[in-house]
Amino acid sequence: MPDNSRRQFLSLLSAGFAASALPGWATTPPLPARKIGVALLGLGGYSSNLLAPALEHTRYCELRGIVTGSQEKIPRWQARYAIPDTNVYSYDDMHRIADNPDIDVVYVVVPTGLHMHYAVKAANAGKHVWCEKPMAMNTSECQAIIEACKKNGVKLSVGYRMQHEPNTQLMAGYTKNQPFGPIKAVSSFAGYGGNGLPANNWRMKKNMGGGALYDMGVYPINGARFITGLEPVAVTGRHEKTHADIFTEVDETTYFTLEFANGLVADCGTSVVKSFNRLRVDCEDGWYELSPMQSYSGVTATNSNGQRFGAISGMQQTLQMDNDALALLGQGPIRVPGEEGMKDIQLVNAIFQSASSGQKVTL
Ligand code: NDP
Repeated sequence: MPDNSRRQFLSLLSAGFAASALPGWATTPPLPARKIGVALLGLGGYSSNLLAPALEHTRYCELRGIVTGSQEKIPRWQARYAIPDTNVYSYDDMHRIADNPDIDVVYVVVPTGLHMHYAVKAANAGKHVWCEKPMAMNTSECQAIIEACKKNGVKLSVGYRMQHEPNTQLMAGYTKNQPFGPIKAVSSFAGYGGNGLPANNWRMKKNMGGGALYDMGVYPINGARFITGLEPVAVTGRHEKTHADIFTEVDETTYFTLEFANGLVADCGTSVVKSFNRLRVDCEDGWYELSPMQSYSGVTATNSNGQRFGAISGMQQTLQMDNDALALLGQGPIRVPGEEGMKDIQLVNAIFQSASSGQKVTL
């Protein structure tokens, strides 16, 4: 985005118009006659703390329904977000959502190992699907989601919030004009640590998509692909365990490389016990980086020209869901389609294969 429109966008954000001048939009798309109705499926931490609050600021979509397995959560959600009884579903009766014109999209926000099951159910109910990252456990599951959406004539977006974040978009845009020359090296690391060990829940279960590479690894993978615009042709992987007694099923820290056809190598890592949060691109004539690269707030871009692009003040999830809603309103592309989520899952699986064989895996 040119500097002027970027400044304008940031001032609009600080004035509280978080979604009214979406990055990448020359003019603000008009308000729709009717906003897209979203049902959140799975009312855990991410839905409660990020997505539902972000939906209070969206311009093109709003929270209209919930799908949950926890009866006790229902009264609080209904009261907080004015959700009528008719828009409350359990996982068992969610097929009834097909008859509910209030709901246009089901946003799947359950453990990764369950994404495919519920995304297919939502598509079969004739609703558009927003699916959280990582998209699913393997490429067959990703393909099943894509096919179910195609078969039912509904659209699919994967919840990569960083692809909607303005500073990340700005850095990805550098690949077009190469203001710092050709890329020489990429370093992409995302992990959380410092808060003790992760809770002993689905994030410690292999069949649920727990562990570092599924949960956090898709950030450095997707970040490296997005910021270079290139697709890896080979990967290597290596696990590191310092708490083998606790991480009995899943990986704790995984280091990996992504090799691209032009010889470029991205050096990457992810962890659920170590703090990493930086995406750096070194070029022939300079460098640029995002640090932190994937936090909910504070994502800042800097470059070797001494420029600093400060964090946005709105929520990334608001931008993401408004972009995804606009795509459903026929005003713009789906920025992160299922095929994009599936590429990362193919890489996740290849990195696991390399870590277990000790060999480079060619794609
Ligand atoms: P939580 O554990 O906090 O919540 C998961 C929710 O899923 C539960 O509260 C429950 O909701 C529902 N659920 C249904 N079946 C099960 C089951 N068998 N075991 C556990 N929970 C179940 O997870 P998060 O909210 O942190 O993560 C959910 C998804 O969102 C994951 O795919 C994760 O990767 C993604 N995520 C994405 C983030 C991002 O930045 N894009 C950040 C955090 C998470 P209920 O009680 O309503 O049935």
